[in-house]
Amino acid sequence: MITYPIPFNKATTTPVEFQYMMEAIERGHVSGDGHFTQKCNVFLEELLSVPKVLLTTSCTHALEMAALLLDIQPGDEVIVPSFTFVSTANAFVLRGATPIFADSREDTLNIDEKQLESLVSEKTKAIVPVHYGGIGCEMDVISELATRHNIAVVEDNAHGLFGKYRGKDLGTFGCLATQSFHETKNISCGEGGALIVNDAEFIERAEILREKGTNRSRFFRGLVDKYSWVDVGSSYLPSDLLAAFLFAQLERYEQIQNKRQQIWERYFEQLGDWAKANDVILPTVPPHCDQAWHMFYMIMPSLKQRQDLIAHLKAHGILSVFHYIPLHLSEMGQKFGGKLGQCPIAEDRSERLIRLPFFNSLTDQEQETVIQAIRQFDFKKYA
Ligand SMILES: *Cc1c(COP(=O)(O)O)cnc(C)c1O
Repeated sequence: MITYPIPFNKATTTPVEFQYMMEAIERGHVSGDGHFTQKCNVFLEELLSVPKVLLTTSCTHALEMAALLLDIQPGDEVIVPSFTFVSTANAFVLRGATPIFADSREDTLNIDEKQLESLVSEKTKAIVPVHYGGIGCEMDVISELATRHNIAVVEDNAHGLFGKYRGKDLGTFGCLATQSFHETKNISCGEGGALIVNDAEFIERAEILREKGTNRSRFFRGLVDKYSWVDVGSSYLPSDLLAAFLFAQLERYEQIQNKRQQIWERYFEQLGDWAKANDVILPTVPPHCDQAWHMFYMIMPSLKQRQDLIAHLKAHGILSVFHYIPLHLSEMGQKFGGKLGQCPIAEDRSERLIRLPFFNSLTDQEQETVIQAIRQFDFKKYA
């Protein structure tokens, strides 16, 4: 793998991960649901004011838990944005569901809520909005439609922790929501995630599914006198060592978020006039959304110019990257009937979108280098 002096991402670190991991070792409980797992769960429950948060081994696994909790069956339909990560759809496809792909809004690239009504059928069991870049989907419309049709909403909030929609935290709208603590996310433990349970009816079964289908959680709380196999399930608990690593970052989330805000705002301010002069589109953040400062992207005038800008930045030692290939056009998506032209906004924007280096330890000097290199890009040469 080629490395660049200015990479696209570097994992977030704080000075205390190692100390907390040592503490977990000294406590003698490094499997799941130890001291630090509990601290992370409670921290997120209090931050979001939700009845239950359960750390998981990944956001993908939290989504799989959501599909199990909703009892998704073969033949059910689940509406997902085409412009997202595979797990948003795959977690439901694993249970036999058919993904129904929705196009994106032109401004935020979030799921286009205006299309949903036409995608709902008798078989629709869930809608899975993804708050792209940590900017909220139109949850008023989505929630109203879901309630009216008796459809569950599961938020894939992998980008959106600490973001808000009309003053309410992202991750608190659906009956269930999922977080990712993968290395590429704002707060991370390498690989990790969480299931946010907003509808308390799901709590007991969520604990069972996560503990291999046993009532072990209830046993440890003294609610039953032995634990045994009571349901389907799997092993979705991360080690307490990872929870210790994660808690170090959760505790320092304000510093992390402030730093990311500074980086985002600097890109936005210093590239504004350049973007305007060259028909480049910078991200739109609707006034009723507080974003989560997850990424900084630009929409170039054409695919060719996007590819050329990536190459130009590489020549300057900077790695910038594109993002999702629309799911309906993927090999798997086509097996579900996905066709070119089905989601025109997702198709167009995915070809023109470029993400700039964005990580907590990006220095002012490095960011200046990125901005200067972008401003030197010669549009005429690459037209
Ligand atoms: C990162 C991501 C995931 C998967 O997260 P993991 O923790 O790696 O499983 C799912 N959905 C979206 C939108 C993501 O960005």
